[in-house]
Amino acid sequence: MAIDPGHGGGDTGAVGVIPPGTVTGLPARTDSAGRTAVFEKDVNLDIGLRLDAWLRAQGGRTLLTRTQDLAGGDVPYTTEGADLRARVRIANDAGVDIFVSVHNNALAATTSGTETFHFYYSSAAARLLARDVQAAMVAALGLPDRGVKTAGFHVLRNTRMPAILVEGAFLTNPAEALLLADPAARQRIAEAIGRGIATYSAQGVTAPPALAPTIGPWATKPKSVPAGYRLVKTGATNPVGRGGWLAVIAGFRQPVEAVLPATIGPWRTRPSRVPTGYRLVKTGRSNAVGRGGWLAVVNTAGSPGTGSSPGAAAP
Ligand SMILES: [Zn+2]
Repeated sequence: MAIDPGHGGGDTGAVGVIPPGTVTGLPARTDSAGRTAVFEKDVNLDIGLRLDAWLRAQGGRTLLTRTQDLAGGDVPYTTEGADLRARVRIANDAGVDIFVSVHNNALAATTSGTETFHFYYSSAAARLLARDVQAAMVAALGLPDRGVKTAGFHVLRNTRMPAILVEGAFLTNPAEALLLADPAARQRIAEAIGRGIATYSAQGVTAPPALAPTIGPWATKPKSVPAGYRLVKTGATNPVGRGGWLAVIAGFRQPVEAVLPATIGPWRTRPSRVPTGYRLVKTGRSNAVGRGGWLAVVNTAGSPGTGSSPGAAAP
């Protein structure tokens, strides 16, 4: 399996501010204002190395996309594109079974919690891996469960095996920055990711085809696509290559809960039918949406709880 510690070298990732004198076990850093800081690249590498040691101790075969404060492939950082391509190439060339990218998050100072991403067009195996690792991290850290989400991140999109990207906690949240600065907490995160991988592996999931989930997108419809792919039109509910064409692995079926908006409507009069995956509900006093009308609500019965994130930017 490939362990991918996010960022490195000239790409610091998120920056967290911690009290002066905090013992971190990481390189001493300051932010642009001269305050004592922890850099996401250092936290991710430390967790990645701890995860590597834990998995090897369990008999796992691992590789790291970087082992030092450098870009992917342990080379000096030049551009984000070159860095990300190197990480994907390492995993694809080695033919690893799974790819786990280790990150920590950035948003508002009050934002808190743990989340895990898989690619929008990912295999069922990747979704299961994301669910198992997210559950293990939430159990170990006790932070708010922000759920399993979809994204278009480069390393998820171009790797040819089940791939996930974990966001342990928020460096922009002072309490969580202090948590990530603690070597014992980083060990807990590493072991939780490892236990999640072990849970996934124990289920004997059949590996999907060794193809990247998608090729493209293209602005105009290509004449042909490689064997094993089919063409789809991209659109508003698809974060990858809006307004163009995309080659998607043949046989891929988007799970209902990850592609459909939560509701359609409302309508004043009852529609004669609703799209597949929805059921009609009457709106009313207890329903803030479209009082006195009809609403199509996504039918999630029997599907695992999966969130959705439309953003396709790099983490
Ligand atoms: Zn990151």
